[in-house]
Amino acid sequence: MNNIYNLTLNDLEEYFVSIGEKKFKGQQVFDWLYRKKVKSFDEMTNLKKDIIEVLKNNFEMNTISITKVEKDIDVSKYLFRLKDDEKVEAVLMDHLYGNSLCISTQVGCNMGCKFCESGRLKKIRNLETHEMIEQVLKVEEECGKRISHIVIMGIGEPFDNYDNLIKFIEIVNNPKGLELGSRHITVSTCGLVPKIKEFTLLPYQVNLAISLHAPNNTIRDMIMPVNKAYPLDVLIPTLKDYIAKTNRRVTFEYILLDGINDTEECALELANLVKGMNCYINLIPYNETNNISYKRTKKENISKFYDILKKSRVNVTIRREYGSKISAACGQLRSKKED
Ligand code: SAH
Repeated sequence: MNNIYNLTLNDLEEYFVSIGEKKFKGQQVFDWLYRKKVKSFDEMTNLKKDIIEVLKNNFEMNTISITKVEKDIDVSKYLFRLKDDEKVEAVLMDHLYGNSLCISTQVGCNMGCKFCESGRLKKIRNLETHEMIEQVLKVEEECGKRISHIVIMGIGEPFDNYDNLIKFIEIVNNPKGLELGSRHITVSTCGLVPKIKEFTLLPYQVNLAISLHAPNNTIRDMIMPVNKAYPLDVLIPTLKDYIAKTNRRVTFEYILLDGINDTEECALELANLVKGMNCYINLIPYNETNNISYKRTKKENISKFYDILKKSRVNVTIRREYGSKISAACGQLRSKKED
């Protein structure tokens, strides 16, 4: 059975037309789902009983559930059970500017980045659009606050689940739906070039973040297998084209790994790599995990790296850290399989 949260507004309108009903019913249902946020078809009281029956017979609604919440001061980690008993996580962060939710897009991940805990579990399947939507709705319900920002940086490679991802963006971004401004949505990819090219042509003003993590192919090949398929000499021109066509700025995420990619030469090489691009670099202190031997760069070396980039007039920030106490930080999700 299809899930109602898989349908965009357009899909809902087409659905009603296909069953001989008026198109505007699609709009009504969309409103119930994303404005009034009802939990059952029976609550859609401006629809006739027989329409409600048709919907009930053809669509599911709530299929995922929160099975565990861990809270720290300004961060909460949610564990979800999916219909087939698989599990994923989402992380809610309280910022001064609002509530930001980091959602997962796949069960496991196939990209195999050497430093990432989530990537150690091979991809089991893609999440459907409704499973991404439901992460947002369920967390809003549990915490009683509106989610104002979404970062698509949880478990999985979003561009390896492209079609479901784009439908998700369409639904949350729709002014008649959850109405999250595009600039409040960020999607992060390890660099799947063909999908970045497709994404360039879409009308959404969603922020694009790239997991770069190395200033040259030698180091990137070593820590990110995806670089063998789409090396920097292909990735960087693709991003330059994205920036030119969309007029948007790209964010580069750069984890600092002690002794691997954090030397002064690396900083200079990185500055040179992104020279002239409308971008900024987000330096990420590495979150160490039990199963991976990479170590976090020492504080003074992080500062040195930062200073070199600054001096080279690169826009750079050091990422504020959230959630390491409850293993909710980047690269730590689903590391405890016993849950
Ligand atoms: N697959 C997507 C999104 C998920 S990862 C991507 O690669 O962008 C989100 C970010 O966390 C990525 O930049 C990823 O490289 C980073 N990350 C992974 N493991 C980490 C760790 N242990 N410490 C800090 N950041 C990590």
